[in-house]
Amino acid sequence: MKFNGRCSNFVSMKAWVIERIHDLNTDDSPLKLVDLPKPVPQQGEILIKVSVCGICHTEIDEIEGRTPPPKYPVVPGHQVVGIVEQTSGNRSDIRPGDRVGVAWIFSTCGTCEYCISGRENLCKDFLATGRDVHGGYAEYMIVPEQFAYKISDIFSDSEAAPLLCAGAIGYRSVSLCNMSNGQRIGLTGFGASAHLVLKLVKYQYPQSKIYVFARSLEEREFALQLGCKWAGDTTDKPPHLLDSIIDTTPVWKSVVYAMECLKPGGRLVINAIRKESIDKEYLLNIDYTKHLWMEKEIKSVANVVRSDVKEFIWIATEIPLKPEVELYPFEKANQAIMDIKMRRIKGAKVLVI
Ligand SMILES: [Zn+2]
Ligand SMILES: [Zn+2]
Repeated sequence: MKFNGRCSNFVSMKAWVIERIHDLNTDDSPLKLVDLPKPVPQQGEILIKVSVCGICHTEIDEIEGRTPPPKYPVVPGHQVVGIVEQTSGNRSDIRPGDRVGVAWIFSTCGTCEYCISGRENLCKDFLATGRDVHGGYAEYMIVPEQFAYKISDIFSDSEAAPLLCAGAIGYRSVSLCNMSNGQRIGLTGFGASAHLVLKLVKYQYPQSKIYVFARSLEEREFALQLGCKWAGDTTDKPPHLLDSIIDTTPVWKSVVYAMECLKPGGRLVINAIRKESIDKEYLLNIDYTKHLWMEKEIKSVANVVRSDVKEFIWIATEIPLKPEVELYPFEKANQAIMDIKMRRIKGAKVLVI
């Protein structure tokens, strides 16, 4: 918690915090609203007055203990948009009054084999915003200046927030598919990240067809409205085998079914920080010949690197790609969390600070 706890004793701020692991099946108010000292930036950091913070399924994984914060309490939230209030570093392109974003990648060591080879997402000292250090469900936060991103004026605050996680990790997932234009791609699960991926793929690979697997009829209809070629249930078979599939579900059944829908040499990219164990026994259905033979691959997506965030913001500005968002007032943070837990999902949820 290197960057936590440095603070002024004189000024406080409102913040939502996670104080311990909760079972969301029995407890629908996992976050606690507290007064914390307003943070003070140290050398190389900036202080941001938070405007909005996107709400991500990863908060559920933190709260339920699948990727628990190393120390409590911690302010969650890693899709942060706000106004720079104070700078104390060398970066000349960020000034007080500028609007910036903060993503899941809060800092890395900068010197290990992964950091120096463009794979800082795999750094063992990777600190995650809103898990390892305080995030954006608060009036203020600090971030190292090299881990803040300028955001184009074409986006409102709430449109920009989901670009920082759902969008950036979606972009990384598409990159890991090694697609070429015209190849068929599947998306299993259709939450905030998948709907941005659909729009991204239509732009980057205009001749490719997109196939969406989703349990809910509402999600399938939403996907068809956004221009996918085919939408079916998780267990339905698309009319063609697919070159790659991105899985954004928290469960295993979708993984097994997806492997069956891949072409020889196809790749499944799992975009989930943790899988839930609720249907883990479903993996016993894996049949080597049917699901893995013919050089089919499974690859996970771990975190993001800064260039994922920068490149995705740039492409989203070019398209322009504006996420569908649902806003929650600051005091409704617990409701937003529960809506994600209950899979009441259409587009991306954003907390207005
Ligand atoms: Zn996220
Ligand atoms: Zn490193």
